[in-house]
Amino acid sequence: MPNSLITGRTRLLAVIGDPIGHSLSPVMHNRALAALGEDTVYVACPVGSQDLEAALAGFAAIDLRGFSVTIPHKQAIMPLLGEILPVAQAVGAVNTVGRSANGEWWGTNTDVAGFVAPLRSARGNWPGTTAVILGGGGAARAVVAGCHELGCDRVIIVGRNLAKLRPLQAWFQPPNPLTIPVELLPWSEMATAIAQADLLVNSTPIGMAPKINESPMSPVDFDPLPVGAIVYDLIYTPRPTQFLQLAAARGFQTIDGLEMLVQQGAAALELWLGRSAPVDVMRDALLESLTSRESA
Ligand code: NAP
Repeated sequence: MPNSLITGRTRLLAVIGDPIGHSLSPVMHNRALAALGEDTVYVACPVGSQDLEAALAGFAAIDLRGFSVTIPHKQAIMPLLGEILPVAQAVGAVNTVGRSANGEWWGTNTDVAGFVAPLRSARGNWPGTTAVILGGGGAARAVVAGCHELGCDRVIIVGRNLAKLRPLQAWFQPPNPLTIPVELLPWSEMATAIAQADLLVNSTPIGMAPKINESPMSPVDFDPLPVGAIVYDLIYTPRPTQFLQLAAARGFQTIDGLEMLVQQGAAALELWLGRSAPVDVMRDALLESLTSRESA
């Protein structure tokens, strides 16, 4: 919304994180809010961990409509909220917070819906499949939950430090309602995992700008990947990554991280506004912003 359109009634949405200056969410959400004619603006707020509670109290005082949560607050915010919706409870992370009529903050997780959306378009039937995930950090939680939601049979996480991955493996066991078998394999045994993959996901930052010539897999690493597998990179800068270029050159269907970003944002906006989000407008805003960043 141009500054001249901000009025005494304009309301606020926000994203909190530390750092937050790189966030593409303001561009995406403000373009959507303008397209919908909503008298609301979305701003990025740098909030350090020590200020999280104070920020929440401030947001309540100024009647903020809701906010997105990014690194490092996705888990730390949870005990400060009045209600955690089941999907966020099952994932163990909140990326979207809103306010109910009684003034209580609720938290949910739209990363799972964002991750799953392009996969549903890519393939109709997921039961019986195996997903292989490279890396097991924060984003991998939404990926494993998404694999459960799709109906995949099992997940194999390939990582360089299995001890660090065990809590993630344990997280998706009973009593979690999102129970799914999770196996762990060391990086040195990647080929064993790749040979079983119907879906292969890069959930590491390897290949992210500025290190655009890197890839978590070399060309020969793709040799055991079964024909028909879908290759997904959570990274959205660059588009495509080296990893996806190698996969596409071998004839695999590829998905990059942009759609996950768009769809998680659209799902959040729909919760805050109670109306459909203009997904195409949001995608175009992100594409424009990424293109201008790349050429800067
Ligand atoms: P993270 O919490 O830092 O986790 C990264 C994971 O990758 C960890 O398991 C890490 O292992 C592993 N890793 C890092 N470097 C590695 C290397 N050289 N070799 C092997 N494993 C390595 O990061 P994250 O939040 O999960 O994000 C992962 C990627 O997803 C990032 O590129 C991020 O931009 C992207 N992402 C995209 C979206 C989207 O909407 N499209 C959303 C979230 C994240 P260690 O623990 O051993 O370091």
